Amino acid sequence: MRIFLKQMKVVAWLRLVAISCCVFAAENPAAAPNSDSTYQQLRNLSLSGEAVSVTDLTLRRDAATFHLHSGTICFVPPVQGKVTGAVFVGEGLVILDPPLAVERSSLKLLTREDEFAEHFSKLVLRFTDGSYDEIKKSGTAASGGCNAEPLRDTQNAMRHDRMLKYNLDARILEDVLSPEAGGLFVAFIHGKKYNDKEIFVIDPHGAPPLLVPVAPEEVELVTYDEDRLGVWASFHLSTEYKSGAATGSQKNSVIHIAHQQLDTTIEKSANLSAKATTEFVALSSGVRVVPFNLHRTLRVQEVTGEDGQPLPFIQEDKNDDADFYVILPKALSRDEKYSITTRYGGKQAVSNEGSGNYYPIARDDWYPSCAGGSLGDYTSYDLTFRIPKGMKMAATGSLVSENTDGNQSVTIWKSDAPQPVAGFQFGNMKMEEVKLAKPEFMVSAYANDTPPDWAHALQGGTMGNLSAIVMMKQPLREAQFAIGLYSNFFGPLPFKRLAMTQQTACTYGQSWPELVWLPICSFYDVTVRHQLGLDLGDRGYWKVVAPHEVAHQWWGQTVGFNSYRDQWMSEGFADFSASLFLQSAYSQKGPKEFITFWDDERKSILEKNAQGYRAIDAGPLTLGYRLNNSRTGVSITRDLIYPKGAYVLHMIRMMMWDRRTGDDHFKATMQDFVKTFAGRAATTEDFKAMVEKHMTQEMDLEGNLKMDWFFDQYVYGTALPTYKLDYSFENGADGLPSFNFKVTQSNVDKNFHMLVPIYLELADGRIVSLGRARLSGNSSIERKLPLNGMKDRPRRALLNYYDDVLASP
Ligand SMILES: [Zn+2]
Repeated sequence: MRIFLKQMKVVAWLRLVAISCCVFAAENPAAAPNSDSTYQQLRNLSLSGEAVSVTDLTLRRDAATFHLHSGTICFVPPVQGKVTGAVFVGEGLVILDPPLAVERSSLKLLTREDEFAEHFSKLVLRFTDGSYDEIKKSGTAASGGCNAEPLRDTQNAMRHDRMLKYNLDARILEDVLSPEAGGLFVAFIHGKKYNDKEIFVIDPHGAPPLLVPVAPEEVELVTYDEDRLGVWASFHLSTEYKSGAATGSQKNSVIHIAHQQLDTTIEKSANLSAKATTEFVALSSGVRVVPFNLHRTLRVQEVTGEDGQPLPFIQEDKNDDADFYVILPKALSRDEKYSITTRYGGKQAVSNEGSGNYYPIARDDWYPSCAGGSLGDYTSYDLTFRIPKGMKMAATGSLVSENTDGNQSVTIWKSDAPQPVAGFQFGNMKMEEVKLAKPEFMVSAYANDTPPDWAHALQGGTMGNLSAIVMMKQPLREAQFAIGLYSNFFGPLPFKRLAMTQQTACTYGQSWPELVWLPICSFYDVTVRHQLGLDLGDRGYWKVVAPHEVAHQWWGQTVGFNSYRDQWMSEGFADFSASLFLQSAYSQKGPKEFITFWDDERKSILEKNAQGYRAIDAGPLTLGYRLNNSRTGVSITRDLIYPKGAYVLHMIRMMMWDRRTGDDHFKATMQDFVKTFAGRAATTEDFKAMVEKHMTQEMDLEGNLKMDWFFDQYVYGTALPTYKLDYSFENGADGLPSFNFKVTQSNVDKNFHMLVPIYLELADGRIVSLGRARLSGNSSIERKLPLNGMKDRPRRALLNYYDDVLASP
């Protein structure tokens, strides 16, 4: 959703360091967080003394096979009759054989071994599946010799390790309090070869977001050592690949949130207090404990149920595993609805940046949202905001009313269509708006007259104008142009307004439904940015940040994604859209901006990073943020899914382009895609099917009406061809020119197919498309073409003039 300034990008997936710790003091013990007695039993779990010794016990858990050669297994005591853990000490081996080829090759890259086979001497298991019974009946009773320390280590790691901080106890409580059988299996592996900090998880509700979110996938292997960080494997349950249920649109979270009513007050100091009424529906049976996303510094004071009764809830210290869970009065059956009201607040969710500038730190988790739902859960919103009188609020949805109440400005907003997320921006802002006639649309810009403190300090009071208001006409113009252009290419949006607002972070923009945050520096002119040291010669960042974020109104907000495997479409298509913007908005200068943009995109994909990897080699687009790991580099995803995702769509556009009908074919494809998936998540496979529905005859390179060849090469694969063009012009007996050429494709495997466009630069300087060469494998084609109707010899011939094919430069 966000576009970062490259030089200053942040490693968003690394969690913040937690230093201090404190005890939560509750006024009313009955309503205190974390006080549920079953939860407390799980939280304080140790070993019971019950033990078995095992010899050659094999535990098969999806793609993992644990061979326990010999040793002792000690159990934890039952809670509500369920034994949820065991500690193995002895000699063992785990083998992981992922069901997907892409996972097997990724694991090979990360481990530098052909097979993942890890020996261990200790194994801590947590489970709600049948593990207890299975182990118990395979062993013989043993006594004594149980050491609870390995268990305690894993409890500490989950609670305090800055890479983890996941409340596993609360997750286990979900299954312990459910009348249904659980399916959770977690193995903490003390490996000898790769790493002693390995966690293997199977969670039918989606594997937890330990380093990066991988839900809805259920099976995951992570290593969380500082020097060896990464999701080493993630996939759906093996049975789901066989049944066809393994898709990115799978809904594995326990609930879907249908409606949110959020009443939020933000004081001048930036203190936030809120009341959220959350209506949801259970997606499986036996839902008693519900996990939510809520920013760790927003502390829950009270949760009440439908009859106003206080409900027990869990939220550990903000520096620990602070995940928010609510315990319902009874278990819900599938499709049953329920509603809770949460009161919460905190001083550290919004930051006061000075002079009426505020920065929302809790960006998309300032209210309790569906855990594990990512952006695939579409919800309707009613928002009320109370902010200091005189300040202005811009939020997602339509403004229903704006009033003053005492010293507060009160605005009410309503979503025009279900949204994947809700957001806001506020401060001492001025607003300007423009009404578009075609499409009928309202675009507004919000900016602050006075810069935040950091810009004041940098500026030293001596330089140009830092008022963003002076420049607010530019984002307004850019948004106006982009809305018109994108509506023409992608079809109408399900809503009729967009607010372009400034945000005080200079290094990224972010898009929300009907709302965009632009970095405040994009409001400044070139001179001021230079004075602030922010020009950085950065690959056209300032030119594309607004068009990229506006494009997310289609990609991410209207058409969503539910899995990290499909996120490349949101970012890639937004980057692609920015290329359309550059092509149209600067057309009077010819295609220079457009071609420079694609050259820059290619450089991002092909430049080696500090770890020695080119983004294109780190893995396919569908690995998304998992590509950020300590082997291939912790910020390599940005260099892959944005530019290469953009290239994929660009290549499709260029293949569909026709001399007679121009972009008509491509527009029809994209409009069909938006219309079909508006208000829900689309997968990579959904998009592929849409391209196949609209593909031209020329694109059918395998003669099967499928685009497998293209998606296997560029989306699911890491292919990068090299091209060479040799040519000459000669004049025939009739004096008319003809074109002799040879196109060579190399550095590919034998099944690599491509349509490679050839262009001519005519004597008058115009560039015309001659046609597309069809190449397979490492091969050449040679032709002699009479240039009918052409009097003068062309100046030169060019391959891929518009960067039509992603290839080596
Ligand atoms: Zn983006």
